[in-house]
Amino acid sequence: MTQIYDLHCHSTASDGALSPTALIKRAAENAISMLALTDHDTVAGLTEAKKCADELNINFINGIEISAQWEKIGVHIVGLNIDPQHDALQKLMAELHIMRIERAEKIAQKLAKKGIPDALEFVQKTVTNETITRVHFANFLVSQAYVSTVSEAFDRYLGDGKSAYVSTTWTPLENAIQAIRDAGGIPIVAHPLRYKLTATRMKKLLGAFKNAGGLAIEVVTGRYNPDEMRILANYANQFELAASVGSDFHSPENVWIELGRVAPLPNNVKPVWELWQ
Ligand code: AMP
Ligand code: MN
Ligand code: MN
Ligand code: MN
Repeated sequence: MTQIYDLHCHSTASDGALSPTALIKRAAENAISMLALTDHDTVAGLTEAKKCADELNINFINGIEISAQWEKIGVHIVGLNIDPQHDALQKLMAELHIMRIERAEKIAQKLAKKGIPDALEFVQKTVTNETITRVHFANFLVSQAYVSTVSEAFDRYLGDGKSAYVSTTWTPLENAIQAIRDAGGIPIVAHPLRYKLTATRMKKLLGAFKNAGGLAIEVVTGRYNPDEMRILANYANQFELAASVGSDFHSPENVWIELGRVAPLPNNVKPVWELWQ
């Protein structure tokens, strides 16, 4: 039987719907043999997840997904096999959390101007582990019936350029890569096709990533089709980067993306786990 690897997913430590324990139980139900938890800008879920994974015989990898800035856009850098306690990583997470709190205050102000009060108070009550995300605001808007779904909340208020959107300059790409490397981890470009770059710009991003010490890209993610996988495998080989695979699972409510429901890596790439095994 082929082994199932899922090296990108979220828990309630950031914007996921499941607790670390519930997530690992789902991974076991889905016959996953290796799982990495990669919450946005936090390692707060890792200890609980690791404990449960050990009990259920899942090979657990410590991970994170860092919000980084490259030129004018936000890019996500997954770090795998990190030491969560490392100073460099702790310092970077603290900076990102401050940026997120400042952004959250501004989002709440924009919502208040639209006649939607008290968003910050609600969000602060529901955030368990410091990483305040736009998903928390979306959940607030749904729970108070301002919108009926999370995706409507993004379409109307929270998505890029929408009425309660607040742009943020995240940590520079190079900082994210360096902190992951300092913490002994592997930096990986998450979901490369989601940034909607032209081929020229994609090559520029991958060149900058590689130059700064980046080591892998996600070649397989939850919703990619075979053509996109081939394109990404070619980029991996062209830039001599290893290949990762991850569903980016957030919630059972999104029926399109399930934990561990990912295609196997194509044969012509180097699997990222070979870098630490
Ligand atoms: P943030 O990092 O706080 O800007 O929040 C971004 C998160 O919002 C992403 O990691 C996704 O999980 C989620 N997200 C972004 N766009 C959408 C959307 N259109 N519908 C649902 N979730 C979204
Ligand atoms: Mn997310
Ligand atoms: Mn992401
Ligand atoms: Mn993610």
